[in-house]
Amino acid sequence: AKDKGRNNYQFFKPEMNVRAVERQVIEANLRVALVRHEFFLHYQPKINLKTGEITGAEALLRWQHPQWGMVPPIRFIGIAEDCGVIVPIGRWVLREACAQTRYWQDSGLDIATISVNISAVEFRRQDFVAAVNTILVETGLPPTCLQLEITESVLMRNAEGSIAILEQLKNMGIQLAIDDFGTGYSSLSYLNQFPIDVLKIDQSFVQDIGYNKTDSDGIIVSAVIAMGNSLKQKVIAEGVEEQEQLSFLKDQHCEEGQGYIFSRPVGAEQFEKLLRQRVMT
Ligand code: C2E
Ligand code: CA
Ligand code: CA
Ligand code: CA
Repeated sequence: AKDKGRNNYQFFKPEMNVRAVERQVIEANLRVALVRHEFFLHYQPKINLKTGEITGAEALLRWQHPQWGMVPPIRFIGIAEDCGVIVPIGRWVLREACAQTRYWQDSGLDIATISVNISAVEFRRQDFVAAVNTILVETGLPPTCLQLEITESVLMRNAEGSIAILEQLKNMGIQLAIDDFGTGYSSLSYLNQFPIDVLKIDQSFVQDIGYNKTDSDGIIVSAVIAMGNSLKQKVIAEGVEEQEQLSFLKDQHCEEGQGYIFSRPVGAEQFEKLLRQRVMT
């Protein structure tokens, strides 16, 4: 697959060439970013909407390039997936997040779970479950404190295969969340078969709440909350920015929320301060 680009260069339009070169430059830089220690994690709190308490955090990858500055995940995650380097990067993320959380717990801070995003490429690998287990053993984080976020579209791409992997993770005690829920066209029959603990309502639905009480996003959000509550799955709304959205979510008995209204994703030191303060807003 690597030589394809080289052999086909004559078919590229000039602007495609620029993009292809840009991809190659990002790929080459990604390959050395781990050893150069250019990655770090941000943490965004998850809030219990009834009590205002922090229940956990989502770990979000950050790339500080020496010349380019901060490169947002949307610029590089896809490229990292295409060239496979997402596997070592994803393992670094998992190890770092688990070690940091174990450290906070050892310091007496109350953090129930750490959520880590898992890409399709990682999830489908034969050695994924074993790699997660190794990292839990090495960092000493209890499996029940780890939550893996897998997008709905990744799970649905091969629903039967996904169920088998999810069940192995579930048997280890790990918590499982469907990320970007509502965007991946789950059939309801599969939803019931996935051993899932948490539904994360995609922020695109959350962000239109409140402008009009009969808008379709409000209806979808209410329906997802009601469904999750009756399937005994915890529902968490992501991308909560405004008071009106928060009030709506509370009225609908959504259990948890995450978004700029509480806190942007922050570095480990700043997140530790939030943990000491415990209650948000
Ligand atoms: P995601 O998993 O859906 O993460 C939520 C994104 O929404 C994050 O963007 C977060 O910073 C942003 N966000 C949080 N609250 C708000 C809000 O109130 N309003 C708005 N507009 N945005 C909010 P970020 O950090 O840029 O990450 C983007 C995506 O990159 C993530 O989407 C995830 O798919 C991917 N990603 C990030 N870190 C990792 C990682 O470690 N591994 C993998 N495989 N993917 C990652
Ligand atoms: Ca996520
Ligand atoms: Ca999401
Ligand atoms: Ca999303």
